[in-house]
Amino acid sequence: MAHEPRVPLRPVVAALPAYVPGARSRPGAAAFKLSSNENPYPPLPSVLVAITDAAADVNRYPDMYATELTESIATSLSREGMSVGADQVVVGNGSVAALAHVLAAVVEPGDEVVFPWRSFEAYPIAVAVAGGTAVRVPLLTGADHGRLDLPAMAAAITDRTRVVLVCTPNNPTGAVVHRDELDAFLAQVPSDVLVVLDEAYLEFVRDPDVPDGLDVLAAHPNVVLLRTFSKAFGLAGLRVGYAVARPRLAAGIRAVSTPFGVSHIAQRAAIASLGAHEELAQRVEHLVAERTRLVDGLAQQGWDLPRTEANFVWFDLGERTAARAAEAAAAGVLVRPFAGEGLRVTVGEREANDLFLQVAATWR
Ligand SMILES: *Cc1c(COP(=O)(O)O)cnc(C)c1O
Repeated sequence: MAHEPRVPLRPVVAALPAYVPGARSRPGAAAFKLSSNENPYPPLPSVLVAITDAAADVNRYPDMYATELTESIATSLSREGMSVGADQVVVGNGSVAALAHVLAAVVEPGDEVVFPWRSFEAYPIAVAVAGGTAVRVPLLTGADHGRLDLPAMAAAITDRTRVVLVCTPNNPTGAVVHRDELDAFLAQVPSDVLVVLDEAYLEFVRDPDVPDGLDVLAAHPNVVLLRTFSKAFGLAGLRVGYAVARPRLAAGIRAVSTPFGVSHIAQRAAIASLGAHEELAQRVEHLVAERTRLVDGLAQQGWDLPRTEANFVWFDLGERTAARAAEAAAAGVLVRPFAGEGLRVTVGEREANDLFLQVAATWR
């Protein structure tokens, strides 16, 4: 049979790196899942009620603009002297979708998007799909290993640069960007280049030198914040995140968003979670205490890891990465290997962290 011409895929699509999800345990095999930076706690009873109640309405489309959720988020972000309007908030099907919509709103084919690397693995995919050209700036090494090299990122900006992605804390290293270095960086970024501050792990940060993105946004009209209900709020399975920006940019992001992208169940669960903020904050506090215990335990074993402000830790293991991940899995802990580079291990429940500490001790 003669060769029929085939529908071509866009070359960037054919070349996309695969997003590697964190390992899941096999049915029947008990293992702690420390591979996706999830919250180990099940939904709060009040949130579960909101979810089950919302399930009764799934024959209807959700509120397209998630009006009530958007207003609740804006209210939750507003404080004395600084109010955030609902016209500044755009929800998405996870903040990964919000990022895609941010890029769709501003990136023209061939525009450069600068981001740190290694960082969130969704970045190169989102940039390529948006038609942008990825410009990866290596993380710092040596005493500052795992930290973003903001001076190098500023130096990487050209006339073609449209967006810079700043991930703080950085996934997968956990390192944060400090106020003074971010100020110095933003002073060098042209006002028509968008700076996306990905604050997916903001709630876990205890370092007082880390700025609140809302203050950064207030001072810089070319900044967009990305936040999510997936991590601290424990709703990873429902897919809801959001962008916060000046109203004009927010309207552009909203205009390119997937219609009805956030399900009714996700909207109700997120609203209920904002209402249960105090209870959820206690859980975060507990996880931060577990992080301290884990980090201290690892330091006692002699590890020199990047200082983490997120709900995970990073091990530079180079070529030993895959073998170590397999050993951890065999011991009952699923971690996230980045082949040839290192392992990311999520802070889990106490028993999981204890087990992982035992595993890490065998690696010394
Ligand atoms: C987990 C994570 C997100 C959140 O993604 P969702 O789509 O909201 O689940 C965003 N950015 C980074 C850096 C992350 O690690």
